[in-house]
Amino acid sequence: RELPGDPVAGPGLRQVQGAAWSRVMPTPVAAPRLVVHSAEVAERLGFDADAVADPVFAAVFGGNRLLPGMDPWAANYGGHQFGHWAGQLGDGRAISLGEALAADGSRHELQLKGAGRTPYSRGADGRAVLRSSIREFLCSEAMHHLGVPTTRALSLVATGEVVVRDMFYDGHPRPEPGAIVCRVAPSFIRFGSFELPASRGDLDLLRALAEFCIWRDFPWLLGERAMQPLAALRGAAAFDEALFAAWFHEVCTRTAVLVGHWMRVGFVHGVLNTDNMSILGLSIDYGPYGWIDDYDPDWTPNTTDAQGRRYRFGWQPRIAHWNLGRLAQALSPLFSGAEPLQAGLDAYAATWAECERDNACAKLGFADCGDDDLALMRELQALMQRAGADMTGFFRALADVDVDAEAPSLDPLRAAFYDPARLAANAPALEAWLARYAARCRADDLPREARVAHMHAANPRYVPRNYLAQQAIERAESGDETGVAELLEVFRDPYGEQPGREAYAALRPDWALDRAGCSML
Ligand code: AMP
Ligand code: MG
Ligand code: MG
Repeated sequence: RELPGDPVAGPGLRQVQGAAWSRVMPTPVAAPRLVVHSAEVAERLGFDADAVADPVFAAVFGGNRLLPGMDPWAANYGGHQFGHWAGQLGDGRAISLGEALAADGSRHELQLKGAGRTPYSRGADGRAVLRSSIREFLCSEAMHHLGVPTTRALSLVATGEVVVRDMFYDGHPRPEPGAIVCRVAPSFIRFGSFELPASRGDLDLLRALAEFCIWRDFPWLLGERAMQPLAALRGAAAFDEALFAAWFHEVCTRTAVLVGHWMRVGFVHGVLNTDNMSILGLSIDYGPYGWIDDYDPDWTPNTTDAQGRRYRFGWQPRIAHWNLGRLAQALSPLFSGAEPLQAGLDAYAATWAECERDNACAKLGFADCGDDDLALMRELQALMQRAGADMTGFFRALADVDVDAEAPSLDPLRAAFYDPARLAANAPALEAWLARYAARCRADDLPREARVAHMHAANPRYVPRNYLAQQAIERAESGDETGVAELLEVFRDPYGEQPGREAYAALRPDWALDRAGCSML
C-alpha cells in the first residue's frame, strides 16, 4: 500500500502505467490437493502439522480461499530478455497473497505461481504445470540447504485441472496436470521492477519504488529511521544520493555473492534476464535451469538459447554484471553523476573475484588462496572438461585423494568420470596435476580432518540433478507422487554422507543424456 497501484482491478490484459502493482484474485481451481510441502517453511510461517493437513491449507495455496488479511496482487515489471528490452513482462504468472510476519519478526511474502491470469499475462493462461512446479519446488528448497540465497517453497498443490502448454512455451501442445507452488521470500522485487518505470520516464514511480525497496527490504541502510513509516521518510532528507549509492553497492555485492554460489555448486539459471534478477540477490524464477554434470562451462540447459548460449554456465558472472549495468541505467535518474553507479559495478567485479578465490580455496581444501592456487583451479577445470569429469562427483571425491603421497593415485576419482577412454587419455595430465595439488596441500599444513571438513562443506554430495527431478516428475505424472518428498528429504542434507542413499549421488545415467538439457519452463 506504500506504492501506487493500478486503478483497475482484475486480470484483463493491459499496459499498466504509473503503478507498481494490480489487485487481482487467484482464479479458483477444480480440486486443490496438497502434493508436498516444506515442513520448515510451514513451521516458520506458523502452520503446524494439523494446519497443513487441513483442506483449508490446500484451498488457500491452490488459490481457492483467502485467509483473513490477504488482499492479493500481481506486481508490475519489465526486463531485458536475451539482451534486448522487452517492455512490460510481469508478473503474469504470479499472484502474491500477502506478507506474513513470522514469530521471529522476519517478513515473508507468499506468492502463488500459476494461480491464473493477471494484467501482465501476455495472452497466456497464467497457469503452471506439475512438471515445472516440481522442478521449482525441489530446486528452490535444495538451494536453500546448499547455502545458496534463494526464494523458498512452502507448498505444491495439484489443481485437479489440465493445462495445455501453448506453442510459445515448448513447441508441442500436450495436456498436462496443473499445479501451483507457493513461493516465499522477503521480496520479489526484480531489476526489471525498476527498469519498467525508468523506460517510461516515470521518475516519480521509480523514486517511490526505490525508497520503498530500501525501507522494506534493506532497512539496515536506514538505521534507526527504518522504524518510521515510509510516508514520514519520503523525500530527499532521508533518501539522499549517498543512501541510493549504498543501496546499489549492496545490490551489486549481493549479486556477486549469489553468482559465486552458483559457480561453486554447478547451478545454471538458464534465463538470466533482468526480470529474473532479484534485488535481494536471491535465486529466483526456476524455469529451464540445470545442473552441471560433466564439467562444461559452455553448457546451457536452455534450448531456446542454443544459438548464442548467452545463458551458459561459465558466462553467469558476466551476464549478471551486464544485468547490473541495465539496473544502473534504470536507476541513473536518482543520481547526479555516474560515479556511484560505476563504483557499485566495480564492487561487483571485486566481490566476484573474491568469491572465485574463496570457492577455489574451499573446493580444493586450502587454508587460503593465492594467485597460484587460482591458476591451479583453472588448470583443473580445463582438465575436468577435457577428461569428462562430473563436477559434483569429482570435487566430493577429491577429499579422498592421499595428499601425503608424492604421486597420489587417481583411484578415488575414477568413478567421477563418464567415459573411460577420455579418462585414460587424460590420466597422465590428471596425475601430474594431482602431484602438484598434493604438494600444495602438504605446504598448507592443515590437519587432514580440517581439510576434508572444509572441502565437504563446499562440495555437496547431493544436488538436484536434472534426471533426478525428471524421474520424480514422471512418477508423479503416472500417479506416484512420493518421489518428490523423497528427493526433498535427500536435499535437506546435501553435504552429509547419508548412508543408504548413495544412488541419489550417482552420476547422470546415459539414458538421461539427451533429456538432461531439455527446456522445462
Ligand atoms: P516466467 O518468468 O516464466 O513466469 O515468465 C515471464 C513472463 O512471461 C510472465 O511474467 C508472464 O508475463 C509471461 N508468462 C509466462 N508464462 C505464462 C503463463 N503460463 N501465463 C501467463 N503469462 C505467462
Ligand atoms: Mg521470470
Ligand atoms: Mg520462468
